[in-house]
Amino acid sequence: MEHIFAPWRSKWVEAVKKPEEKECALCQNIASGSDEEALVVARGDHVVVMLNLYPYVSGHLMIVPKSHVPIFDDLGEAEKLELWSFTERSINVLGNVYEPDGMNMGANLGQAGGAGIPSHLHIHVMPRYGGDTGFITSIGELRVISEDLQTTRLKIANAFENLNSQHS
Ligand SMILES: [Zn+2]
Repeated sequence: MEHIFAPWRSKWVEAVKKPEEKECALCQNIASGSDEEALVVARGDHVVVMLNLYPYVSGHLMIVPKSHVPIFDDLGEAEKLELWSFTERSINVLGNVYEPDGMNMGANLGQAGGAGIPSHLHIHVMPRYGGDTGFITSIGELRVISEDLQTTRLKIANAFENLNSQHS
């Protein structure tokens, strides 16, 4: 058996696997009976898509596995597949709804990676527009929100339904 020496890995996995927060906001949204309140736009078997409560732009989505785990390694194969499939669908939906110039997709892993909730893995997808880079990122906390979250939620939830009906 070949051993690969990767000391950085165990170090960061330990850093990510911190003791649980008392209340995980993502788990609360997943368990919520109200998609309006939880800002949920789509639900799969293993994955839930929701709006970020503190978006950087309108349409900032989070694709969240129902399992409260910090890293991809902890997900089962079906969960990984659905996570990817909903990430793709989220990109399609944002393209249809907002027709942005580009998008960002990614995950912040661990506290040092910038994760707001490091113990619960989630993928961010957000639309980007020509001219919004640099300026906004340099200002840091300034956010550009042009519509309220419930309006966004409804638009995107409908777009997910349309996408599903196209596939069935
Ligand atoms: Zn959680």
